[in-house]
Amino acid sequence: MTTVMAQAPAEANRLSRLLSLSRGVDRFPVDVEELAIGYAAQFGHDDPIASVVGADLPGFEGALYRVEKSGKHEWALIYNSAIEVPGRIRFTMAHELGHYILHRKNRDEFQCSESDMLHWESDEKRQEAEADVFASYLLMPIDDFQRTIGTDTVDLDVLDHCAQRYGVSLTAAILKWLEFTSQRAILVMSTEGHMLWARSSQSALRSGAFFRTKNAVVPIPAGSLAASTESATPEKQGIELAARTWFPKEPAGMSLREMRIVSDRYEQTMSLLILPKAEPRWMREPEERDDELLDERIQSGHLPRCK
Ligand SMILES: [Zn+2]
Repeated sequence: MTTVMAQAPAEANRLSRLLSLSRGVDRFPVDVEELAIGYAAQFGHDDPIASVVGADLPGFEGALYRVEKSGKHEWALIYNSAIEVPGRIRFTMAHELGHYILHRKNRDEFQCSESDMLHWESDEKRQEAEADVFASYLLMPIDDFQRTIGTDTVDLDVLDHCAQRYGVSLTAAILKWLEFTSQRAILVMSTEGHMLWARSSQSALRSGAFFRTKNAVVPIPAGSLAASTESATPEKQGIELAARTWFPKEPAGMSLREMRIVSDRYEQTMSLLILPKAEPRWMREPEERDDELLDERIQSGHLPRCK
């Protein structure tokens, strides 16, 4: 991880602390537009974000442009007004604010589209990932997220409640939860019987519960709720089924909880899998431990954009 990567959460946390001081803890969802417009004055910068506007931006989620006005530099933050999901717009605005805070010294314009972040081989892609990390920390501070969940059993109802609180999409809220939960949990997005992408919590990853979806067609396993085409009824609390249905290396007799939502809008199925604690390491196959290192590297650069 680079220094700048570590800077993204640090900058977001700094803003969160200020917002909590001035507004109290019950201050969500974050008003990103107000924050963006007031940021430069608050921190003494002479190149403010002067406008936040929606516009027709085919192919882009959002953009940030430097403009010159009466000999002074300003920035215009633009979001795609054709996107009808408020949570996505809020995330995009926070992403652009992240570019403004973290990257504006290096570039005069940012045009941001929805894409996966599997590789960080270019500076540009690294900056996209950093802006996403900034947005996620700003909109969903981990300490507040943990307090909101409390001791509840986590399911899609609980995570949906968090998504409402923070004004983000359910996907964004689940990805955030996966970042800090100690539970073994895996989010799988699929369409037409194969996985689009998947993301595991750290403990799931370490126990070998992950999917390699990059450059691979990974089928949804038969017998899973995700494979069922009988009904599109949401299963927000989930059903119990054999862990081996999804993860053949899990012990016989272990079950997992599979939750599912079928989205007509994107023709995608979202599955959240929660496994019990893993077997101790010494009971698992040695080759799994080698796989873990590789997949931790893959997943650390795998940050799907949040719809
Ligand atoms: Zn961007």
